[in-house]
Amino acid sequence: MAIQNRLCPEPAQETLLLEHCAHARFVWNLAVEQQSWWWPGRGSAPAHYERKRQLTEARATEPWLAAGSSSVQQQALYDFEHAMAAFFDKDNPRGRPGFRSKRGVQGFVIRDMKIRRLNRRWGAVFVPKLGYVRFRWTRDLPAKLGMARVTLDRAGRWHVSFPGPQPALDRQSTGAVVGIDRGVRTALVTSDGQHYRAPRISDRRAARYVALQQRMARQRKGSAKREKNRLAMARVMARVTGRRKDWAEKVSTRLVMDHDLIVFEKLNTKGMTRKPAPKPDPDQAGNFLQNHARAKAGLNRGILASAWGRLATRTEQKAAASGAAVVLVDPRFTSQQCRVCGHIAKENRESQASFLCVECGHADHADANAAKNILARGLALSVTSAQAPGPWGVCPRKPAQAAAGTTRSAA
Ligand SMILES: [Zn+2]
Repeated sequence: MAIQNRLCPEPAQETLLLEHCAHARFVWNLAVEQQSWWWPGRGSAPAHYERKRQLTEARATEPWLAAGSSSVQQQALYDFEHAMAAFFDKDNPRGRPGFRSKRGVQGFVIRDMKIRRLNRRWGAVFVPKLGYVRFRWTRDLPAKLGMARVTLDRAGRWHVSFPGPQPALDRQSTGAVVGIDRGVRTALVTSDGQHYRAPRISDRRAARYVALQQRMARQRKGSAKREKNRLAMARVMARVTGRRKDWAEKVSTRLVMDHDLIVFEKLNTKGMTRKPAPKPDPDQAGNFLQNHARAKAGLNRGILASAWGRLATRTEQKAAASGAAVVLVDPRFTSQQCRVCGHIAKENRESQASFLCVECGHADHADANAAKNILARGLALSVTSAQAPGPWGVCPRKPAQAAAGTTRSAA
């Protein structure tokens, strides 16, 4: 969790900020390269103190590097250590730290924090070798300031973010519980039957994005026009991303304010974002037609998937800070299972939108039925629950003795 504010450097400061980014990227990439030379049996890659010593040496021979801030460069090494530690973390493994590109998100870390408040809307943060840089004080900073990360995103916007714990929401325990399903039309449907629609990319904007993408494919790599094109694409996406984040913040706050227990499906988000399938040309074997509609659908699918992921993460963070609980359950068959009799069949799903049980005739909105199943599974898992979900509350595939037992004793 980090508080992110928009950084507004003067043009002269921006040049220096970009230099800091370049130094941090250079040091990081050097560390990645050293690490890539390592394999089992070859001795260990340099440890942190050894890398730090090498950095000092490099600064002595490279005037370009020496002109930069040593604290920014050292911090890039710490950054790399953290990324490696996360990579080796068995409980929560991350991807292997890779090379950072000039074209990706740029950034560096400031270690010794000095902050000034200029007025209600503006603050300034001290950047080594550069002095104070102004930022918009739109969100309150964490009470304890450790460090800050300065970033330049692909749409050309600077931000400064301050890591800190998630502040607790001002809420009273409500005793209410809710299950949440990923809807087909809307982003999510609650077990109370409420629909929340996630932002999508508009047709006009999607068409522009796809057109830019196709134009870029024809442009020469490294040309100024291609760079301009890339920036235009990033700006379109930045708008959508901004709306998606805002949506996730609002809905997660609402969910945590109103409920003591929130149940989500455990999701494999990787499997959810698929590229649009290529459309083969019927006249020429081996050729493929341009696929505009599919490209648009693909964009929206990606946006919905990331909106969903972000919502679940933010809800978990806010709940943990505010005395509510989030439970993740197995999503298998939640959309095919009857909420009333527990019968599982593909035929239960009468259409995309409606559910009709072939066994007992129970009819419901398909997503709401799934959300109720998810809630029941969550209640079965959570020992604190006071409501009994019935024997089909637990996942049918799991050996459910223990879970079923707890639900019955809770009843
Ligand atoms: Zn039924």
